[in-house]
Amino acid sequence: MTIAGVLALQGDVHEHQVMLESLGAEVIRVRRLSELDAVDALVIPGGESTTMDKLLRAFDLRDRLIERLRNGLPVLGSCAGMIMLARDIEGGIEGQQTLGAIPMTVRRNAFGRQVDSAEVDLVWEPDGSAMHATFIRAPWVESRDQDVEVLATADGPDGSRHPVAVRHQHAIATSFHPEISADTRVHELLLAFT
Ligand code: GLN
Repeated sequence: MTIAGVLALQGDVHEHQVMLESLGAEVIRVRRLSELDAVDALVIPGGESTTMDKLLRAFDLRDRLIERLRNGLPVLGSCAGMIMLARDIEGGIEGQQTLGAIPMTVRRNAFGRQVDSAEVDLVWEPDGSAMHATFIRAPWVESRDQDVEVLATADGPDGSRHPVAVRHQHAIATSFHPEISADTRVHELLLAFT
């Protein structure tokens, strides 16, 4: 059985756990090195990326997590988790660091204040189907290397179009929160890597 971890320092851990369990995975909440070492795949949930960054270092997990990601640990980052996976951030706070697993730049809180939270119907590029997505103070992908595959895009308030779901090797990142819908496709994609 696949052991899926949910990084449980901060953020919406429970919803990811429920969804992964519904797909047949055994779920471990990851707060220590031994837990990180035990998982076959990891979710980095939404929350607050600045806090998560500090806690990763306080819990002494950051270096091992970077190493596991380099060695191909399948990972899904949603919202703050997308920010954590990026190589670079626009709109980060002073000293904010990321894990650098996906060669892209993300913009924090990209949709602006007036769209703090929004529900949008996206086109899921892998099969052209519709995906209903919830955005909460979400980032978008500002720029990316060519080998970062776009899974979905959305319009910003000024009409500019940006990737909001991407895949690079065994890493998936979404601006939106796939864990708060009944749609399991994003989590299925993660588990398919294991
Ligand atoms: N704006 C938050 C951040 O910068 C992310 C919001 C979320 O995860 N819902 O971390």
